[in-house]
Amino acid sequence: MNLKHFFKYYKPHKRLFIVDFTSAVIVAILELAFPVAVQYFIDELLPSGEWSTIVTVSILLLAVFLLSTFLQYVVSFLGHKLGINIETDMREELFTHVQRQSFRFFDNIKTGHIMSRITNDLFDIGELAHHGPEDFFIAIMTFFGAFGIMFWINPKLALVTLIVVPFLIWLITYCNIKMNSAWSNMYGKIADVNGRVEDSVSGARVVQSFTNEEFEINRFKKDNGSFRLAKLVAYKVMAATHSSIYMMTRLLTLIVLVYGAWLNYQGELSYGELVSFVLFLNVLIKPIDKISALLELYPKGMAGFSRFRELIDQDPDIVDKKGAKPITGLQGNITFDNVHFGYDEHKKVLNGIDLNLRAGETIAFVGPSGAGKTTICSLIPRFYDIQQGSIAIDGIDIRDMTKHSLRSHIGIVQQDVFLFTGTIRENIAYGRQGASDEEILAAARKAHLEDFVNKLPEGYETQIGERGLKLSGGQKQRLAIARMFLKNPPILILDEATSALDTETERVIQLALSELAENRTTLIIAHRLATIRDADRVIVVTEDGIAEQGGYSELLEHDGIFANLHRIQFQQ
Ligand code: ADP
Ligand code: MG
Repeated sequence: MNLKHFFKYYKPHKRLFIVDFTSAVIVAILELAFPVAVQYFIDELLPSGEWSTIVTVSILLLAVFLLSTFLQYVVSFLGHKLGINIETDMREELFTHVQRQSFRFFDNIKTGHIMSRITNDLFDIGELAHHGPEDFFIAIMTFFGAFGIMFWINPKLALVTLIVVPFLIWLITYCNIKMNSAWSNMYGKIADVNGRVEDSVSGARVVQSFTNEEFEINRFKKDNGSFRLAKLVAYKVMAATHSSIYMMTRLLTLIVLVYGAWLNYQGELSYGELVSFVLFLNVLIKPIDKISALLELYPKGMAGFSRFRELIDQDPDIVDKKGAKPITGLQGNITFDNVHFGYDEHKKVLNGIDLNLRAGETIAFVGPSGAGKTTICSLIPRFYDIQQGSIAIDGIDIRDMTKHSLRSHIGIVQQDVFLFTGTIRENIAYGRQGASDEEILAAARKAHLEDFVNKLPEGYETQIGERGLKLSGGQKQRLAIARMFLKNPPILILDEATSALDTETERVIQLALSELAENRTTLIIAHRLATIRDADRVIVVTEDGIAEQGGYSELLEHDGIFANLHRIQFQQ
């Protein structure tokens, strides 16, 4: 059940909760005691005329006020601290969980969804975690406590109050429902505004190249206007709520005053009791307000919690199996034995692939786009699990190794290099955590990145911008190669690593890449055949599987698919 899971998150903060809750209970009791004290003051102390007692009681009251003030501070601060702690725990759990997910998970989820769960949803949950149990119990306690005492003072007057209370509850609840829908409408609109900003900022280059700035501004104005309207409505509802609740409570006060005056005239109610009653009315309003606020907070927080659980409950589908061993020192002999695989079980991409790659060999994969070359390569690091057959490295099935040790033996350089916001040094160092400065410099040198970096005023400390925006395609690729030199894996996968580059840049990168490929089992997926001349073997992949394999010139002589591809490319 959701609620049971929810309370699990209190466990690490049990002490905080107990201190917060106890303080809140004491505050509530003092709140209830105040009108009674005033009544005693008016009815007993004043007529007695004993000034020394009056002074003593006043000092006592002052002490109680100070205690109450301090405790209210404690409740407010510790309560929110509890909420933030729980929120932080959940956020960390979610992030950790997402880090452990497999490619399949990321294939199917929108970044924005994870973002909104990690921020908005968790804000709501944190608020509920804090206000939920505390406010609920305290409100129930003060409400019934106040009524109990009012009945004890004067049952008739208490009954009159009781008649009005349902209306008050109805009014506050009704207003809260209205507010709730107004706020959620506003949240929807702000999400639209955020989406617009995100889109046109990350797409700023496209916007400008189409000179669509005016169009973007107008679109934004529209959404911003809707947001303004929604927020205005929310504030209007809020203003109406506050004033109508004010009116109702004053009305109730008036009724109590008039009827109380009558009872006083009849000799059934003392002055002190009347004052105490009026004071109790204020005590009574608070819990009603709190409960109805909870009625709003609860569904919001719980909805957020369900969405949070939805993600947390998705078990990562690629995990170490029991007894998986951490492997070191793999040579890089890769075998595919009758491998069947499809991203979707019903739509196979690979149908019984057999492959045998020897350690140190350079193997080129060519073939039409969509044939499954990238897929074959992403099965080796176990980014996806195969449905049938087996993949082994040095004779060990990859499912018998820990994911971490398997992947530490494999390096991948792709067409679109992903770099992180930060410096050149940080991005190279990403290849191996804890690498020394010398190692980083050596890696940069091997990747032919050194000359470029040395010309920069800030050298290795140069910020490369979001996703390496300030670097050219060739520079990014060289950074990726440096990162790979640092990782130094025995198995290397180059997936169209140079396809996006112009021929001139490609030649330079090619040099760095062939140095990187030395002494490693290297799988090259290449579009331009000129880049794979030196491969030990060429494998032609088509939608029907492996169609041809052999040496470059061997395949040309064979005069099949490869020879045909070759002819088309070199005619151009
Ligand atoms: P290649 O690298 O040879 O161009 P891929 O291995 O990328 O081909 O793709 C092979 C097939 O698998 C294609 O039909 C493609 O649409 C599909 N495919 C690739 N990646 C995914 C994915 N993450 N989810 C679903 N289908 C995919
Ligand atoms: Mg591909």
